[in-house]
Parts: sequence; structure tokens; C-alpha cells
Amino acid sequence: MVGAGLSGLTSAYHLREHRVLVLEAGKVPGGVCRQGSFRGLAYPAGSAYFYYPGDPSWEAWYRDLGLPLADSAVAKPVSALFYGGRWYPDCFSKPCIQTLPLPRRAINGLENLAENLAAWEEVWDPMGSDSLPNPELDRMSLAHFLEHEQQLPPQVTSILAPYCRSCLGAGPETVSAWAGLFFLMSEFSANSRTAAFPGGNAMIAQALAQSLSPPVRCGQTLVRLEPAPQGVDLLVWDSPENRGYRLQAGAVILALGKFAARHILPAHAGWELEVFSRFRYSSYVVAALCGHISLESPGYENWIVGDENFSDFIMSPRTPRGDEARVMTVFAPQPYGQSREALLRMQPEEKAKELLTAVERHFPGTAREVEEIHLYRFGHAQIVPYPGFLTTLKGNIAQAQERVILANSDLEGLPCIEAAIVQGQKAAQRARTLLAENRAGV
Ligand SMILES: Cc1cc2nc3c(=O)[nH]c(=O)nc-3n(C[C@H](O)[C@H](O)[C@H](O)COP(=O)(O)OP(=O)(O)OC[C@H]3O[C@@H](n4cnc5c(N)ncnc54)[C@H](O)[C@@H]3O)c2cc1C
Repeated sequence: MVGAGLSGLTSAYHLREHRVLVLEAGKVPGGVCRQGSFRGLAYPAGSAYFYYPGDPSWEAWYRDLGLPLADSAVAKPVSALFYGGRWYPDCFSKPCIQTLPLPRRAINGLENLAENLAAWEEVWDPMGSDSLPNPELDRMSLAHFLEHEQQLPPQVTSILAPYCRSCLGAGPETVSAWAGLFFLMSEFSANSRTAAFPGGNAMIAQALAQSLSPPVRCGQTLVRLEPAPQGVDLLVWDSPENRGYRLQAGAVILALGKFAARHILPAHAGWELEVFSRFRYSSYVVAALCGHISLESPGYENWIVGDENFSDFIMSPRTPRGDEARVMTVFAPQPYGQSREALLRMQPEEKAKELLTAVERHFPGTAREVEEIHLYRFGHAQIVPYPGFLTTLKGNIAQAQERVILANSDLEGLPCIEAAIVQGQKAAQRARTLLAENRAGV
């Protein structure tokens, strides 16, 4: 297994009956599911929450991992919108939509949209499937759908922009309407419940990693892969030891982004490597503002309309308790299309200052309460489902060639933990079949 993000860890978890070695380039397992800590207080430093699974098989999966699902339900209002200097708690609910400072036809249009999404929710179950329901919606951007198909004024698009940038890596004019609507479905849904653990989705990754023996080997970067007659040869760089070594495996699951896989796979591995260049990614900065922060925000997830510097934030703990330390995790999706190199060149101090100034502009007094800022940079963090990408993806990219299997949420085209888990499960299933065939001499 190469890559110990949620997709790789899920695959390894489902293959525990086999001898599985998990190699991870980073210092800790989890990929973008990362947790930070300030004076013993755990906070989400990357992927933060998920939708409480209504489906019993999902629920059973989380329970098998020993995760305290019942304690993870997020109290309402889950989402709040900061728009024009005031808060709109429970912003995706019908009563709140009524209060938004929008023209009457926009409010009616938004309510209609919410009803349509609720109806589609009954029939849309695309995760892991080879086809898309309503594929025509993948041919246009979300902005086009809202403004031209639904005749909604541009204010609606701008209200949804921070959500879109944070969850899908780019604004409504860039992401596919299908992807935007699929994500928004969970927000507008009356049935969905949001769940979060104290350190965010890192807790799921930790539970998976703890179930593995041998443990994940961190600081190990796969550099090259060569299919061989009886298996796969790997060239790995060991960062702590500062040396390279070779390994042979019966089968390999590449649970990393295609931006990396395309440089690791040789042309004769079976894939048209050009196809991987169609995968586009966004980059992300997450800043944890730590201190005695008194800011009161109504939502668990707080969306800020109209700021290019950041899109949303989460407070840990959510409600201030006396003089206790708190962390404000600020999510700052980087402008789409600007290269990862720009992110890596960025001076951390400069970025931290920029974010602090932006937060202070909206919430005066917060900056002086901040004692430490922890910055996290995620290059190529999220797959961006631009119009047409999901259609290209579904059924057109082989998940496996011989003994090399692909995983990672980018194969689902959607940056969410369910996509990573489903892809991890699919890869494990394929590996199991392959190993069984080998044993049977097929
Ligand atoms: C800041 C942020 C917030 C998010 N918030 C949410 C959220 O609240 N809810 C939600 O559902 N989704 C969220 N997402 C999306 C979701 O968490 C991800 O889609 C999912 O966790 C990705 O898992 P993955 O295994 O596909 O990829 P990754 O997490 O990217 O894992 C890939 C792993 O492969 C490793 N790797 C790469 N190259 C090599 C190599 N050559 N050798 C060895 N290892 C290698 C990487 O270090 C990494 O650990 C968020 C994403 C980001 C970036």
C-alpha cells in the first residue's frame, strides 16, 4: 500500500488478513485528515467533519472501527453564514433562507432549489458507481446552472462561493454543477446529520492506522514502480535514513493522487499517462489561531461571504468555557489555478499575518487574543471536479492493470472522505480477488 491517507488506510484495513506493508511519505498517517494540538486541546488541522451515515452499512463500518459515533453528532445550527456583517445561523434551512437579504425571487428560487435537491437525494447514489445520474449537469458550471438554468441572481452564486471554494477547491464558476449540487444536497437535506470528532477526521485515520500490523511506515516515499513477472518492484526513498531501497510486492495499491502517480508509473504499466493530466487540483492553507479566543460564532462550520483570504472556520471547543484556551481553525483555499509552487514559495509569517488581518477585519479584537498560529500547507490537496471531468472519469479509467491497483478519492472525482473510503474499499476488493486468483494459480 502506498499512501496512508484515508483511502490507503481503508484498503489496508480491509486487507488485514494478508501481509500488507503501508508506506507513507509524510511523517504521520492520515494524509489531509490531520489533527493539531494546542496545550493539550485537539483541533482539526485539515479534513474536519462528515455526514452521519444514514445507511446501516456505513454506520456499521464506523462502529467496527470503534469510533464513538453517537458522541460525534454536531449540535444545530451546524452551518452559519456571515454575510454583510451579520450572522445567519442554520443558513441552509428554510426559515433562515427566508431571512437572507436577497430579492424575493432569489429567496423563492433558493427554496425551490432546496426542494429539488431533496428530491434528487432520493435517487442520487453515485459513490463508487460507473455512471452519473443527470449527466447533463456535469456539462455546465454551478454558476451557469444557478444563474441561467435557475434564473437566480448573482448574489446567490456569491453566497455559495465560500462553500464551493472550501469543499470543492474552486468557485461556482469553475466547478461542475453536478459536483456542486451533490455537495449542497447534504447541506440542504432535512435528513442528513453532520458528525465531527474533536480532532476532526484524523480520528478516523488514527483508528484505521491503529488496527494495522505492522504499523504504517512513515517517511517512505515511493519513487518508481516497475511491473515484474511475479509481482511489482518498488524503489523507495527512506527520508529519516536518507537512503533508497528496493522492495518487491505481490500487488501494489497506489492510494495517492494522480498528480504523483503519473510520475511514478512507467508508460508500460498499462495506463495512458496522458489521462492523468486531466486531474486538476487545488491547494489549501489551514491556519490554527490559538489562544484565549472569545469570538462567539453560531455554527459549527462558519462560512464567510466575500473574503478572498479565507472561506470558513471552526472553533474548538465550540462554546467558550471560562478562561479556557480555544483554537479557531481557519480554512484558506488558495486561488484555483495558481500553482502549488506559489504556495511552497510563500513565507509562512507573511501568510499568517495576511490571514490574521482578514479575520480581524470581520471580527475586531480577535487578533490580540491569538497567542500562536499553526500553519498547514496542503499542495494538490483537493481534486477539482471542473465541468466534464466526472463524465470523463466514470467508467473511463481502469482501476487496475495487472498487479497495480489505483485508489484515492480523486478517482471518485469528489474531495470528501466518503469518496476516499469507497475507493479504498474498491481497491481492497480488487486486491483480494487478485491474490485469490494467484493462489489458485489462475
Ligand atoms: C483542508 C481540507 C479539509 C477537508 N475537509 C473535509 C471535510 O471536512 N469533510 C470531508 O468529507 N472531506 C474533507 N476534505 C476532503 C477529504 O478529507 C479528502 O478527500 C480525503 O481525506 C482524501 O483522502 P485520500 O486517501 O484520497 O488522499 P490523501 O489524504 O491525499 O492521502 C494520500 C497520501 O499519500 C501519500 N503519498 C503521496 N505520494 C506518495 C509517495 N510517492 N509515496 C508514499 N506516500 C505518498 C500522501 O503523503 C498522503 O498521506 C478536506 C480536504 C482538505 C485538504
